[in-house]
Amino acid sequence: MTRLNAQIVPVTIFAQNCCILFDEDDKLGVVVDPGGDVDRIVEAVEATGVSIEAIWLTHGHIDHAGGAMDLKERLGVPILGPHKADAPLLAALTEQAKMFQVTGAVRNCTPDRFLEEGETVSFGSHIFEILHTPGHAPGHVVFFHREARFLHAGDVLFSGSIGRTDLPGGDHAALIASIKEKVLPLGDDVGFLCGHGPGGRLGDERRTNPFLV
Ligand SMILES: [Zn+2]
Ligand SMILES: [Zn+2]
Repeated sequence: MTRLNAQIVPVTIFAQNCCILFDEDDKLGVVVDPGGDVDRIVEAVEATGVSIEAIWLTHGHIDHAGGAMDLKERLGVPILGPHKADAPLLAALTEQAKMFQVTGAVRNCTPDRFLEEGETVSFGSHIFEILHTPGHAPGHVVFFHREARFLHAGDVLFSGSIGRTDLPGGDHAALIASIKEKVLPLGDDVGFLCGHGPGGRLGDERRTNPFLV
């Protein structure tokens, strides 16, 4: 059985769940969605004793990607993701900062590699499948660990809710299609973490999420 673990580091005024995904045994891991408060993220990484191999981004919104370039420099690791359709959002993070009155060091982000549906990314022995799940943002991706039955859902799906689609590039019909055609079929037993609030289980969302039933 896998020893995958996750530590949440709340960041930014949007209470975004920056997530350190790591293996309990070999202490290898990644940081998913470092939206800001990079000092706090670095402290959490040091406290867990995890050796970070990469930064993974689910999408190009400021609360998820605003601290990515700073963290990349601090840790000396590459940025992977999201899908290239979010390149314009990542190139306008400083504009998003103005729009949402975010203070602090926000920099536009150039990932080392964009990700495509069907690709995999990994750390240590843990392999995650990439699903391209547009709707909340055009280039949103989610990270699925099939063996561990674990999904990082970003801002696609929340416990009892779904991502907002009123931001630039948002598309409600596309989001519902992403959830119903790609995410939910991963299986009722799949546990998920998400960008805001508590995670849950896909089966519970399929049965009770008011946006999906
Ligand atoms: Zn978002
Ligand atoms: Zn968010």
